[in-house]
This record gives sequence, structure tokens and C-alpha cells, in this order.
Amino acid sequence: MGKVYLVGAGPGDPELLTVKAYKLIQKADVILYDRLINSEILFLAKPTCELIYVGKEDGKHILEQDKINFLLYDYAKNNDIVVRLKGGDPFVFGRGGEEAQFLAEKGIPFEIVPGITSAISVPAYAGVPVTHRGIASSFAVITGHGHKGQFPDINWEALAGIDTLVFLMGVANRQKIAENLIKAGRNPDEPVIFIEKGTTKEQKSIVSTLKEVAEGKTTVYSPAIFLIGKVVNLKDKTNWFEKYLEEVEI
Ligand code: SAH
Repeated sequence: MGKVYLVGAGPGDPELLTVKAYKLIQKADVILYDRLINSEILFLAKPTCELIYVGKEDGKHILEQDKINFLLYDYAKNNDIVVRLKGGDPFVFGRGGEEAQFLAEKGIPFEIVPGITSAISVPAYAGVPVTHRGIASSFAVITGHGHKGQFPDINWEALAGIDTLVFLMGVANRQKIAENLIKAGRNPDEPVIFIEKGTTKEQKSIVSTLKEVAEGKTTVYSPAIFLIGKVVNLKDKTNWFEKYLEEVEI
């Protein structure tokens, strides 16, 4: 029996892999990877490594979770190093916990390799810190997508009391999310930033207000995160990566 590594691949920029993830990808006999994994990262695998795509497309599972679990079991039986590669961090909306539970129940040896989550790193690449002295002393990371595609069950009043709100998988439901936050007491003029394809060459950010988002006035393409809070205003001074991309393009 080999070992399964549940590995976070970071948000996109291959240089944001951890050293541990980098080494494991190079040594892996099999890599089972998700949709948002940058192909440059997969090129690090050895030529004999078996690469298996098990991602989801538009909410539809290419492979159901049970089948992924079964594959992990099967590959672990016949290989030494099985890497289950997930975008960002495996324990932030990545179902890593479920896979770890399954492996534990089946007695398959495993390790968790945390990754850099998009929730914090993508805003950083847009020049937005999730906390800032005197401006934001708390932040929350929330899914904008409920179980089986339903609207998520969220305590909006409790959420409204947190300074910075970061929504993952929230693009499709952005209008409803903004409406709920305004109803729960957030200032309609509060700034909102959407960041598409963060930390990659195609990164793009769009700044708006809660009111405009609630009125359906924003156009955004997935994958994107969506952050609400006064820290968005800091971007004017500290935006760096998108400026750098502009300079490179010239
Ligand atoms: N485990 C991942 C999140 C998985 S949920 C993590 O820790 O980052 C997938 C959602 O993450 C996407 O719908 C999107 O909201 C967000 N996301 C992941 N990578 C992103 C990127 N490079 N740019 C913008 N959003 C990203």
C-alpha cells in the first residue's frame, strides 16, 4: 500500500506552490487533479507519472466524489506516491476533509499538504490586504454556492458584522448576495472587488459598489473571487501585479 498526499496547488501562479508540494509533484507516480490546476504545474511531473483529470465543469461532476475516493483507494494499492492535487488549499472548499475521512476509514496512509488559498492570495495580487490596521480587524471566507447548486444558507446578520468578506464560488449568485448584505445592514456604497483568474497572466479586477452589484450592473467571468470591504480602497496605492502585467505587455 502506497501513500496518498492531499496537496494544495496554490491559486494559479506555479511559483506559489509550497516546497513540499513541488517535491511531491516531481516524485508522484499518479496525480489526480482538479479543474483549476495550472498546466505548468502538471509539467513538473516525471514522464512516467499518470495524470488523471477528476475535475468539475460548471458544477457538473466529471467524476462523482465516490468515484474519486475509489480511484484514490485503487491507485494507493498499486503505487507508492499518489498525489491528489487541489486548487488553493485542500481544506478550503476543496472537499479535502471528505477525502481525508475516507482514507482514514479505509486505513490508507495519507498526509495533508496545505496550499496557498485563493481567498487571501488573489486579493493580495490585486493589492488588497484582507486585514489592515485601523480599517479591517476581521475577515471571513464564505461560499457563494450552496449544496447541489442552491443558494447558500448563511446567517447574513452575523456576517454583516465582519469587516472583510471574501466569497468563493460567488459569481453566479453575486446579485442575491449583495441584496442580502444590504438588507442585513451593510452600507450600499461599500466597495466591492471582483478578481478574475487571480495570480495568472490573465488576472483582471473590477471594482464596484454593493449597490451596483445588487442592481445587477457588474459583468464578471469565473473563476473569480469577490471581496467586500473598506480594504478595497487600499488598492489605489498598493496595486502591483496588474500594473506589472501592463508593463510587460507593452
Ligand atoms: N480550495 C480552493 C478553493 C476551491 S473553490 C482555494 O483554497 O483557493 C473554487 C473557487 O475558488 C472558484 O470558484 C473561485 O471563486 C476561487 N478561485 C480559485 N482560484 C482562483 C483564482 N486563481 N482566481 C480567482 N478565483 C479563484
